[in-house]
Amino acid sequence: MRYDLSDDQILIRDTVRTLCRAEFAPHAERWDREAIVPREAVAKLAEHGFLGMAIPEEWGGVGYDARTVALVIEEIARVSAALAIMVSVHNSVGAVPVLRYGTEEQKRRFLPRLVSKELSAFSISEPDAGSDAGHLHATAVRKDGGYVLNGRKNWVTNGEQAGLYLIFARTNKEIGNKGISAFVVESGAPGLIVGKAEDKMGLRGSDTVSLTLQDLEVPVEQRLGAEGDGFRIALSALDAGRIGVGAQSLGVAIAAFEEAVAYAQQRQAFGQPLAKIQAIQFKLAEMERRIQCARLLIQRAAWLKDAGRPFAREASMAKLYASEAATWITHQAIQVHGGYGYVKEYAVERYYRDARVMEIYEGTSEIQRLVIARSLLKDGVAV
Ligand SMILES: Cc1cc2nc3c(=O)[nH]c(=O)nc-3n(C[C@H](O)[C@H](O)[C@H](O)COP(=O)(O)OP(=O)(O)OC[C@H]3O[C@@H](n4cnc5c(N)ncnc54)[C@H](O)[C@@H]3O)c2cc1C
Repeated sequence: MRYDLSDDQILIRDTVRTLCRAEFAPHAERWDREAIVPREAVAKLAEHGFLGMAIPEEWGGVGYDARTVALVIEEIARVSAALAIMVSVHNSVGAVPVLRYGTEEQKRRFLPRLVSKELSAFSISEPDAGSDAGHLHATAVRKDGGYVLNGRKNWVTNGEQAGLYLIFARTNKEIGNKGISAFVVESGAPGLIVGKAEDKMGLRGSDTVSLTLQDLEVPVEQRLGAEGDGFRIALSALDAGRIGVGAQSLGVAIAAFEEAVAYAQQRQAFGQPLAKIQAIQFKLAEMERRIQCARLLIQRAAWLKDAGRPFAREASMAKLYASEAATWITHQAIQVHGGYGYVKEYAVERYYRDARVMEIYEGTSEIQRLVIARSLLKDGVAV
């Protein structure tokens, strides 16, 4: 595994960094306050190809490898974790399943829209099925050359802005996970009712909605993969998505760390800058250690993915470690700021709220530990 970035990766990273600082950083606090990332920000990312990061050029994407995708998400998260999750969900668990499991016709129909302008959403969770997603209840019943979907979905990131939804529903009630199928549904389809956005603690600019599926008719041509393939499609999408959430966590951790270092150098206490006090230095050192560990785990998972090797365990480790690092680092960044860290005037307050959910979505920390344990008990310890 190469640790240094290629010239192309450096160029892409610097391009997204410049774009984020010029176009998004000035607005990130307002997006949080107003609880919306405007469509223009997404359009700006689309202009630079960032809606088609993992889609090959033949389908209009830019065809980045997994490590480059992670770099872009990290850079976006350094200014807005909300925008970063919108992009991560769209690229990793929205667009890629269409590429991987779609028919030629589905790719021709949907990919050009996804890479050029429309966000996508991934909808598996339900009010009674989160960690245990295979327990979902929404139904898809065969009727007249298509399906009729009914049920309730929860927690759909991009659910307000998406042009396309990847929705998982049960085509067979008798056979557990193998009875779940995936469907591509267009926004505005009759029977797809979008609920109001959740009033969240953090990531407030990223919309999260519930969906009601009410006699939603979906033609058979919009089923993704074979009947019963849905759960497998969801799990494979989430493996890649977890590298994205790891990168998002890393980005917000770095942002908080930089604020903490700057503040510690400037704030005086007991006649010296905070940065001269060993207790504060130890916090900064520990932040740096966790950031570098998270980066290595993310890069390793992405490298394995790019090499076409199994990477699910490593993606879980990267997501688990980076998200816990982000909550710890943002927590400590507030501590370094003292009372000033607790008010909205300082960005660390937003970073702390944003980081918290990274231990929850795309599989909680507990579920990541289960995935890692099952994998190592089955396949042995990685060497
Ligand atoms: C902001 C946000 C955005 C989201 N975006 C999406 C999205 O775009 N699409 C989507 O489909 N979903 C999305 N989700 C849903 C998310 O993936 C779930 O919230 C998550 O999987 C946890 O499910 P749950 O909330 O039902 O918690 P539960 O599954 O009820 O878990 C509650 C607690 O019990 C623990 N637990 C459960 N089972 C076990 C076990 N077997 N062993 C140990 N501990 C266990 C969990 O770790 C957790 O701590 C989003 C959630 C949020 C908050």
